[in-house]
Order: sequence, then C-alpha cells, then structure tokens
Amino acid sequence: MTTGLCTDERFRAHVPPWEHPEKPERLAAIERALDEAGLPARMVRVAARPATRVELERVHGRAYLDELEATLANPPGNGSGWLDADTYFSRGTWVATLLAAGSTVEVATRVAAGELDNGLALVRPPGHHATGDQAMGFCLINNVAVAAAALEADGKRVAIFDWDVHHGNGTEAIFDANPRVLYVSTHEWPQYPGTGAAHHTGVGAGVGTKVNVPLRKGTDGPAYLEAYDRWVKPAIEAFEPDVILVSAGFDAHRDDPLGGLKLTEETYDTTLRHLLSVQPRLMMVLEGGYDLGAIARSTVRCAKTLLGDP
Ligand SMILES: [Zn+2]
Repeated sequence: MTTGLCTDERFRAHVPPWEHPEKPERLAAIERALDEAGLPARMVRVAARPATRVELERVHGRAYLDELEATLANPPGNGSGWLDADTYFSRGTWVATLLAAGSTVEVATRVAAGELDNGLALVRPPGHHATGDQAMGFCLINNVAVAAAALEADGKRVAIFDWDVHHGNGTEAIFDANPRVLYVSTHEWPQYPGTGAAHHTGVGAGVGTKVNVPLRKGTDGPAYLEAYDRWVKPAIEAFEPDVILVSAGFDAHRDDPLGGLKLTEETYDTTLRHLLSVQPRLMMVLEGGYDLGAIARSTVRCAKTLLGDP
C-alpha cells in the first residue's frame, strides 16, 4: 500500500499558556511511537503546506477568517490568549492552523486522485468543533471540513466518519444542508458540546445525510462495534462515497482522561478495516485524544492497517 504521512514540527508551536490537554506532546508521542515501529520509512512523506484563502472560504466566513487572522497573525502582548474558555492561541498558532488545514487537503486530494492509496495527517490544532464562524473546543479552522469541501469542489462524493468521543458539531453544521457530504458521528452522550442527538439527520436538502450515534458513558469495544454495525455501516455503505475522511480523535479510548467510553486499539482497528472495505480511498486526520500512550498505540495500530498489514 502507498500510505501518505503528513506531519510537521510547526504543529508543535501551537503552545498552551499553561497546563492543557491539547498540547504539543501529543504529536511528539505519536511520532515517537511510529518511529519505534519503523512505520514512517514505509510511508510516503507528504510535505505540510498552508491552506489557501479559497480553500478556507469554502467552509468559513470571510469576516471570521479576517478576525482570526487579525488576532493570531500578530498577537498582542506575550502572544498568547483565548478565543473561548477552552481554545487558546500562541505565537505559533496562526501558522500551525493554516498548515493543519492545508495538509489535510493535500493528503485528501492525493488520496482522491489515486496518487496515494490512503493517508494519515497528524495535525494540530484539531478542527471538528470549529463552525463556519466560530472557534471552540480547542478548534479554530475545521481541517476535515476544508478537505471535504475541496474534494466536493472536484465533484467527489465524500463521507466523513467521526469517531472522536465528542460530536463534531462544527463539521455537521458546515455540511448540514449539503446532501453531497455524508457526516456520520459516534460520540459519548451526554458530553461536550451537547449536539449530535440521534434524531438530527440534517436540514433541508441535507436531511438523511447526517447520522448521529450517541453512546452511553462506559460503552466498551464490543458494544461500540454493535452500534457501528447497526447504524454506521449501512449509512456509509449506502452512500457509496468516492472518498472516506476519518475525523480520528482517540479520546473514546478507555485510557482517555476526558472521554467516558472504553474503546481499545482493537476497536479502532476493526472499525477502520470495515471502512477500508467500503472505500479503500480513505484518509485519517487527527482530532482529539489526550492520553499519550493511548493515542500513540492507537495511531500505530491504524497506520499498520493502512499499510495493509494483516
Ligand atoms: Zn474529542
């Protein structure tokens, strides 16, 4: 398999002002584990690149982008601050944010074009809570949405599967009325941000293309896979996507300090194998996940599966 891998030192320059779960060490832990498993040598390095204004404007409002750039490009004072109660910025944030979105587009585009069989983008800050005009939940620009919109502009049918423990309210809102982008999310319920009720299936022309699978605190791997088979599998199979984008947060892992689900590396692997059986043109982009060991082991397991290891 030709598996693309995109990550960059500059993602680590998005630095919290004090102790915060969404920290640069997350990527360092994943990269170290991939190295120890000898995986990067088997993958095709994709250079990180910033998203263009045209790419960003497909999903974010101009006024929001202008305001974000004005705040982040030359931050006042010591260079750090908060966009909401959870979402910080530092001097490196603007560059990291543009690179996170652009790198996700780059890997997704190469997978969709068949230059890569599949791919993995290890980026920060994460994206799935960012709406068209609001930063929230550690997210500023919605990386997976920017990538999905780029593929959609190229005529592709895109399915986004979001297995982060939190509902991807931003991604859903951006594509809520759009029937050409399927958004399927499994998430703990109740949990932040409070959206993702099972009865929400989209709005207007998009009704039926948004699938929410809320799961009780304590749901373990076998119970998760049962819910997956019942709700996720038929939705993704019926949509017949040209490409699958996975919003891959690993905070539904049993070791995660923020999430209350009890998934394991095995659960992610089983899920990923099914997704690949529906559409092998697939890319994963990192969202949340706050236990360094859990995110490192889970990413290694998924990367091996992307590479075609049994
Ligand atoms: Zn999350």
